[in-house]
Amino acid sequence: MKIELKGRRAIVTGSTAGIGRAIAEGLARAGALVVINGRTEARVATALQEIRAVVPDAELTGIAADLSTSEGSAVLVAQAADADILVNNLGTAHPNDFFKQRDSEWLDLFQLNVMSGVRAARHYLPGMVQRGWGRVVFISSESAIMVPKEMIDYGMTKTAQLAVSRGLAELVSGSGVTVNAVLPGPTRSEILGNWMKATALEQGITQDDAEQNFLKTMRPTTLLNRFTSTEEVANMVVYVCSEQASGTTGAALRVDGGVIRAII
Ligand code: NAD
Repeated sequence: MKIELKGRRAIVTGSTAGIGRAIAEGLARAGALVVINGRTEARVATALQEIRAVVPDAELTGIAADLSTSEGSAVLVAQAADADILVNNLGTAHPNDFFKQRDSEWLDLFQLNVMSGVRAARHYLPGMVQRGWGRVVFISSESAIMVPKEMIDYGMTKTAQLAVSRGLAELVSGSGVTVNAVLPGPTRSEILGNWMKATALEQGITQDDAEQNFLKTMRPTTLLNRFTSTEEVANMVVYVCSEQASGTTGAALRVDGGVIRAII
């Protein structure tokens, strides 16, 4: 199967690092025109440089905007009016104590992890429907199903993304536009990679050992017994964005290394 996305305009939110950066690179390799997004001009410029170094004919532009706010989302749509592919990748997580967490922290995470994608879908979906082709992908998490007790707020946002994704797929049924969610498991992204590096340094062990300890204690149901790479997650997303994935919509697709103990 050869995935060809020449001429398709793609937006990947939060794509200066981690899973988003790998998705942007994968879409660029398939020929799409990709918008890279991060919060600062400097990070966006570095990501553009890094992707061009490995995909010399990549067609890329960059937009610096903090999509956790409606003002930031307005900057994105002002600079990229239309898109054929929208990957709502932006998201973050911080381990916390449920009993000490303030209302504002819950609402801030909801803005970042859920509303960033809601606002983007609200803007870009009507154009896709009008043109009769489009791909929207929400990067959720295995934590949507296996809600972690140390990040209940994060689990809540990731489950919410599944509801939004399925609901939007229903809304645009028969239009040629597909809407899906992808659920990664523990992945060597920037944020989780840095966490594992810091743990390794603190405990005087290797990063591999820190990852193994994380899997044994926090994600014991893994079948893969290792972290996935950002590229492994990106491969699924690029496929879902392809012409060939036209029969898949309203789905929650796992790249979780088997962490979720369910057959379907
Ligand atoms: P990461 O922190 O490594 O990368 C996040 C990217 O988003 C960075 O480019 C960062 O600069 C950008 N960003 C952060 N806040 C932003 C904002 N307000 N506006 C614009 N850009 C912003 O994260 P990651 O681990 O690659 O996570 C990407 C997605 O994958 C998230 O939705 C996350 O929940 C999901 N996920 C990650 C894992 C994992 O193990 N890493 C597992 C399951 C799901």
